[in-house]
Amino acid sequence: MSDRPSSVSAAPRTIPVLDWRQSQPSRPVTLPLLQAQGQLQDRLQRPLRDLRISVTDRCNFRCSYCMPKEVFDKDYPYLPHASLLSFEEITVLARQFLAHGVRKIRLTGGEPLLRKNLERLIEQLAALRTIDGVAPDLTLTTNGSLLARKAASLKAAGLRRVTVSLDGLDDATFRRMNDVDFPVSDVLAGIEAAQRAGLGADGGLKVNMVVKRGTNEQEILPMARYFRSRGVTLRFIEYMDVGATNGWRMDEVLPSAEVIALLRQEFALLPLEAAAPGETAQRWGYANAQGQWDPALGEVGVISSVTQAFCHDCNRARLSTEGQLYLCLFGHQGHDLRSLVRGGASEAEIASAIAHIWQGRSDRYSELRASLPAEAAPAPGEGRRRVEMSYIGG
Ligand code: SAM
Repeated sequence: MSDRPSSVSAAPRTIPVLDWRQSQPSRPVTLPLLQAQGQLQDRLQRPLRDLRISVTDRCNFRCSYCMPKEVFDKDYPYLPHASLLSFEEITVLARQFLAHGVRKIRLTGGEPLLRKNLERLIEQLAALRTIDGVAPDLTLTTNGSLLARKAASLKAAGLRRVTVSLDGLDDATFRRMNDVDFPVSDVLAGIEAAQRAGLGADGGLKVNMVVKRGTNEQEILPMARYFRSRGVTLRFIEYMDVGATNGWRMDEVLPSAEVIALLRQEFALLPLEAAAPGETAQRWGYANAQGQWDPALGEVGVISSVTQAFCHDCNRARLSTEGQLYLCLFGHQGHDLRSLVRGGASEAEIASAIAHIWQGRSDRYSELRASLPAEAAPAPGEGRRRVEMSYIGG
């Protein structure tokens, strides 16, 4: 990150994961060795269950809310290949996260399908085991542009599920939002290919739509009509103040409550229980004529990161493309795990470092932001610079 110009993205500070204060010359003092017992808790008693791994900071879309063209142009200093964690390094780290109780691994980015030979990484991760002795729930978030071509090989490699980002069905709106003139039909073809490949089994196929007031809220109902009864769970995400380059404004956030109210004008919806602790989405099931949830009709969800922060049970950690561990999507400091792996640390030392980091975690950015009066909340870009979502992984 040090090669990024400050006008683009000031280098996030990183925290060494070993205590390098010298008690004797040339011998670093290490923190006490903590073993992985699958029972880690942070300072707010939150467990570690979900690991998101960014495999590239590059993307072929330029959605203005994530990687605006004006910033992410041809001169943008993307990470050089040598900085990226290799598949072997990712696997070494993932094994230790699983030993600490992680059950779900999500590959993201940037656009993860741009990373060459991603199937090899998926094979390696699918061969790992959780503390319960089962394969991790392995999933991936993608813009869908390469999915039609890759769905079958991803499934064969061991991917279980996939989440596709799609911000509307109207071609002109979608092309404007991805800002590279990419057609909606190709993403829909990718979703169908994922279903044919078996990546949609057991409700595993999700579509995420970021809703921006004044940009694509007219797409909410057409998206719901299209994906209802198609075996795809549609989730509406509030436009978030993540990163420092998207010019976020509160008046462009369409609160989830308004999304649900709109949907209820047309569909009978019933609230559903969270599928897992720490789940980000609030789920709603489509009801049948008897007023009962009909799984064949499917469900929708809302992710209300802005209006209803869910930090209190956040069990996610994020591993950046170059191996910095972030404990919050809105973080500005990473913990450098890559130097541990490349420095020859043993697996027990890596596990211990992760334990120390997680035990020191107290982040709850969104809740704190929500508790401030609007005039006291930091304006985008103010204060310490936050990392971009494309770098940390969405
Ligand atoms: N390229 C992949 C994709 O498009 O899904 C993975 C990375 S992308 C950063 C992950 C998710 O974050 C996408 O669903 C995207 O729409 C969402 N996202 C990015 N910036 C956002 C923002 N400011 N607010 C809400 N969601 C955002």
